[in-house]
Amino acid sequence: HKYNSYLAGRGFHDLSLYFFLGPDHWYKNYPIAKGRRQSPIEINNKDVHYDRSLLPWFASYDPGAAKTILNNGKTCRVVFDDSFDRSVLRGGPLPGVYRLRQLHFHWGSSDDHGSEHVVNGVRYAGELHLLHWNPKYSNYLDAVRRADGIAVLAIFLQVGKTPKPEMKRILEEINAIKTKGKEAPFTNFDPSILFPKSHDYWTYHGSFTTPPCEECITWIVLREPIIVSSDQMAKLRSLSKNAENEPNLPLVDNWRPTQPRYFRMVSASFL
Ligand SMILES: [Zn+2]
Repeated sequence: HKYNSYLAGRGFHDLSLYFFLGPDHWYKNYPIAKGRRQSPIEINNKDVHYDRSLLPWFASYDPGAAKTILNNGKTCRVVFDDSFDRSVLRGGPLPGVYRLRQLHFHWGSSDDHGSEHVVNGVRYAGELHLLHWNPKYSNYLDAVRRADGIAVLAIFLQVGKTPKPEMKRILEEINAIKTKGKEAPFTNFDPSILFPKSHDYWTYHGSFTTPPCEECITWIVLREPIIVSSDQMAKLRSLSKNAENEPNLPLVDNWRPTQPRYFRMVSASFL
């Protein structure tokens, strides 16, 4: 339609267009974005069931699997080698091992919002996602098409008085990837240093929070947030959502609003 031809003429491809128009419009190109198993959701105590059969989860990550850090205009992402089972997540609600592929962050325009999941009305300043895929499928793109294809470990970022030293490695590289399309080497990094002390979690079945919003994700959302400083959050906001030769627009508010839970159950590993 009108927007489409206008923006196409200005060099926007479809995916950019639908990001540009915002989450309320994604379903026009990606009908599943109005599906019954979308993410994120609000996690409210009244809808949560303690499941005593839920096992603890374990991550065994190889620091040598870390490859690069990049700015894709939507988030800051660290990419890992996933060509074999060298960095894996297992246990919890998962039926087997899942391979670590990338991690990325969601954040707001100020410290009082930015997380995707909301817990009993609380929005955290940010949310870290560690994305893993089920290697029983032949590759990542195949896994994305399967209900049990992807596992995301989600960790809330809460602003406190002290910076989190384990975030320094990532934040130091922000200057090297200021603008969209920039990528820098990022090696010898074990992301489990970012984990909070407690492994207590909520779990439910949901989707990617960016188009095409495939409903293939076993979410493992950690109860305990990690504490970062306000300066550390500001560092993430210093990224630009545009390329070097374009106007500098700050990359902020890259979170999707919460979606209806419908008939889904949220299970907790703790009482
Ligand atoms: Zn995410």
